[in-house]
Amino acid sequence: MGKPTGFIDYERKTAPERDPAERIKNWKEYSLPMPEKELKVQSARCMDCGTPFCHTGLQLSNGTSGCPLYNLIPEWNDLVYRGRWQEALDRLVKTNNFPEFTGRVCPAPCEGSCTVAISDPAVAIKSIEKAIIDKGFEEGWITPAPPKRRTGKRVAVIGSGPAGLAAADQLNKAGHLVTVFEREDRIGGLLMYGIPSMKLEKETVNRRVNLLKAEGIEFVTNTEIGKDVTFEQLKEEYDATVLCAGAQKHRDMTIEGRDASGIHLAMDYLTKSMKSLLNQSEEGVISAQDKDVIVIGGGDTGADCVATAMRQGAKSVVQFGKHEVQPDQRVSTNPWPEYPNTFTLDYAYAEAKAVFGSDPREYLIATKKFIADADGNLKELHTVRMEKTYHEDGSYSMKEIPGSEQVWPAQLVFIAIGFNGTDTSLIEHFNVEKTARDTVQSPYGKYTTNQEGVFAAGDMRRGQSLVVWAIHEGREAAREVDRYLMGETFLP
Ligand SMILES: Cc1cc2nc3c(=O)[nH]c(=O)nc-3n(C[C@H](O)[C@H](O)[C@H](O)COP(=O)(O)OP(=O)(O)OC[C@H]3O[C@@H](n4cnc5c(N)ncnc54)[C@H](O)[C@@H]3O)c2cc1C
Ligand code: SF4
Repeated sequence: MGKPTGFIDYERKTAPERDPAERIKNWKEYSLPMPEKELKVQSARCMDCGTPFCHTGLQLSNGTSGCPLYNLIPEWNDLVYRGRWQEALDRLVKTNNFPEFTGRVCPAPCEGSCTVAISDPAVAIKSIEKAIIDKGFEEGWITPAPPKRRTGKRVAVIGSGPAGLAAADQLNKAGHLVTVFEREDRIGGLLMYGIPSMKLEKETVNRRVNLLKAEGIEFVTNTEIGKDVTFEQLKEEYDATVLCAGAQKHRDMTIEGRDASGIHLAMDYLTKSMKSLLNQSEEGVISAQDKDVIVIGGGDTGADCVATAMRQGAKSVVQFGKHEVQPDQRVSTNPWPEYPNTFTLDYAYAEAKAVFGSDPREYLIATKKFIADADGNLKELHTVRMEKTYHEDGSYSMKEIPGSEQVWPAQLVFIAIGFNGTDTSLIEHFNVEKTARDTVQSPYGKYTTNQEGVFAAGDMRRGQSLVVWAIHEGREAAREVDRYLMGETFLP
């Protein structure tokens, strides 16, 4: 433990951010590095408690509590406090293949279950994690480390998101020859074409992919399994297959006026805008410039649409959610160490507030219909406010508030109301069993399917989730594949 009284002596500080009104002028990461002196102070706030909850990684009340990767947080906090950065890095990469991703985009369930957070703001774990890995790259401590021996076994990984990359990394470390197939033109899954560059710059993804290539992993892009390459062909060439194709089947709305021009699915918008940025071409881009934009759906995908529209120069941006505004403090039904469901002003909302003067979020609101002009272009949305009533058994009901109808001018709408599982055509192609939620039927901890030698991990198995869970599942599935191929395994 760094400093026994650190959590009493020092206040929490997280990595600084670029000014919200300025940063929307470009697509660079909004988070800035934290000075080393400050990081030492922050790591001193860790109490090194006897039973740390920060690295337990549990599902509690539908939320994640603690780090799903079981990151050795108190250990690296102590090492950072002592200035032993390289050892901190060694500890960090023992459990996390890609801390440069989680250190930037993870919602940090570790911090929600930090013991300091029972009475004070949590240790700034995510900021410290990011600093350790960034320093590792800056100092040149991270270099390709190909396996010393090859087993002669070959594994195909379908999908190059964080689950596929983690599985490939672990299997390669175990000496297997790994090929990752990706239908997109770039590697990274939602790290590349979902999470916008202001949260995670794409050079960071490419840097890791280049490292994995140098360690011997083969990447095949623009190749859709089930169309360009079949399961039968894979079986001939590979000893095992890991399905990591994500869960990107979008939920849509079926209300009146949905066919008006100007209404898009959020993922179409985000993918096209990132492609246009990376290709430096306006081709296919959906631009929010000078438009009144409404994002339907109160989650993180919606927030990324808000931030993207801000950078494109939208005239106005509003985000609709059906949920109520979250409380400033935990309520009694959301106790520590559960993930805290409290109000936060995420990066996108801070940006909209800085430019338009108010938080763009509208709560407890439902869209009733879209109205188009004579040319079929969207011109307005009709909404109604909702009332939420809680019942004694913990359930709730929603009802419309009479007289609360509103009309909103809008030329562009993004639908971000969640995902309905995975692309079932791939499931059908592999003839693997599926769940009622259209994910692959595969037991947690085993990752097997009803097809011999076919495993599943990440969102494709658990449904749309988090990067940290995708890495966790990719690692664990690799361990099971290794056991299947070799009869035993030394992978964690
Ligand atoms: C807009 C958005 C923002 C998000 N922001 C965050 C965040 O800030 N923090 C966080 O923790 N989580 C975030 N998430 C969730 C997170 O990105 C996912 O949980 C995670 O990426 C899942 O990883 P995965 O590897 O299972 O799948 P994915 O990342 O979805 O990757 C699956 C890959 O498989 C490929 N594929 C699919 N079918 C085939 C096929 N037939 N052949 C070949 N390739 C195929 C796809 O093209 C894709 O590249 C976000 C999600 C979205 C949609
Ligand atoms: S991966 Fe996420 S949960 Fe784990 S230590 Fe990092 S920020 Fe916390």
